Amino acid sequence: MAKRDYYEVLGVERAANEEAIRKAYRKLAMQYHPDRNPDDQGAEEKFKEATEAYEVLKDAQKRQAYDQFGHAGVSGQGFGGASPFGAEGIDLEEALRAFMRDFGFDSFFGGGPRRQARRPDRGGRDLRVRVKLTLEEVATGTTKQIRLRKKVDCGTCGGSGQRPGSSTKRCPTCGGSGEVRRVQRSILGQFVNVSVCPACHGEGVLVDDPCTACGGEGRVPGEESLNVKIPAGVSTGDYIPLRGQGEAGLRGGPPGDVMVVVEVEEHPVFERHKQDLFFEQPVAFSTLVLGGRVEVRGLEGAALVKVPPGTQSHQIFRLRGKGLPYLNSRRQGDLMVRLVAWSPPRTSREEAGLLERLAEIEGAKLPGPRRPA
Ligand SMILES: [Zn+2]
Ligand SMILES: [Zn+2]
Repeated sequence: MAKRDYYEVLGVERAANEEAIRKAYRKLAMQYHPDRNPDDQGAEEKFKEATEAYEVLKDAQKRQAYDQFGHAGVSGQGFGGASPFGAEGIDLEEALRAFMRDFGFDSFFGGGPRRQARRPDRGGRDLRVRVKLTLEEVATGTTKQIRLRKKVDCGTCGGSGQRPGSSTKRCPTCGGSGEVRRVQRSILGQFVNVSVCPACHGEGVLVDDPCTACGGEGRVPGEESLNVKIPAGVSTGDYIPLRGQGEAGLRGGPPGDVMVVVEVEEHPVFERHKQDLFFEQPVAFSTLVLGGRVEVRGLEGAALVKVPPGTQSHQIFRLRGKGLPYLNSRRQGDLMVRLVAWSPPRTSREEAGLLERLAEIEGAKLPGPRRPA
């Protein structure tokens, strides 16, 4: 999706001063803050969008780059990384941190620590899965099926943890708000301490008639298969995040994520150096001496190496663009072939005769000893 103009996002004029920008952002951020709009994806997007716009426009240098080059000026690509966020924009955690940094607790929660927007005490675990790829799969990109053993939402209670048909009970400790406030007095004065309700763990409700299928947890052990698209050009250690595909949360809490970590297997022939591929090709001594064409096989089909006359053994030839593709790019690495003189283990009588003849006349022309290259 194309990004909206930052001034438009904040609803300010292009000539707006710092104070006007700050005011406009604060208003939007308060309106769309995830803590005020739980489980509202639209509000979360608006909050992120406004925060991203503010993070750029509040900074004179970034604002200038944005005015001059638009989003490209602050996308972090080619302009020295003027922006802290990637091409997809700011993520929620970054946005929440930025908002806290700029406005602090006081603007929003009257002095108490803010409630966790994601409630990690109810969130599902993140999972890591390794996928093994061959070099051939790296060259073309592929789709892999992964199996996940994880806790999934309970089908009987739909994740609520409550026995179907029974009603939930509002938590008497917090009155359903999920948090408890305590007024504390200190030498600095009086302040309100807000914390997650210990009785209901922030859920606001109590399960007093638990679902028998899941024991009230709202999730049960299960298994799931997922297809993961893996782009061409990946390397060992690269990972693909699958948001929300991890373990189910406690009683309808947010699910965790899955990190698919790539592991590229060794290839029997090709040695990989980033996107270049190296290999050795044995060739006849006569080809090196006289020159000629040698057909070699890269990962994706045949290629020809032109061998000039008088080529030494172990010389490396570079075939441009016959290596692995770069990630998210049309560029490709190179194929590097080391031609190595091959000595036949057996010779026919005719070959032996010719070689003996050759040995008699070439002996005197050999170069002297040298250090290994
Ligand atoms: Zn259940
Ligand atoms: Zn409670």
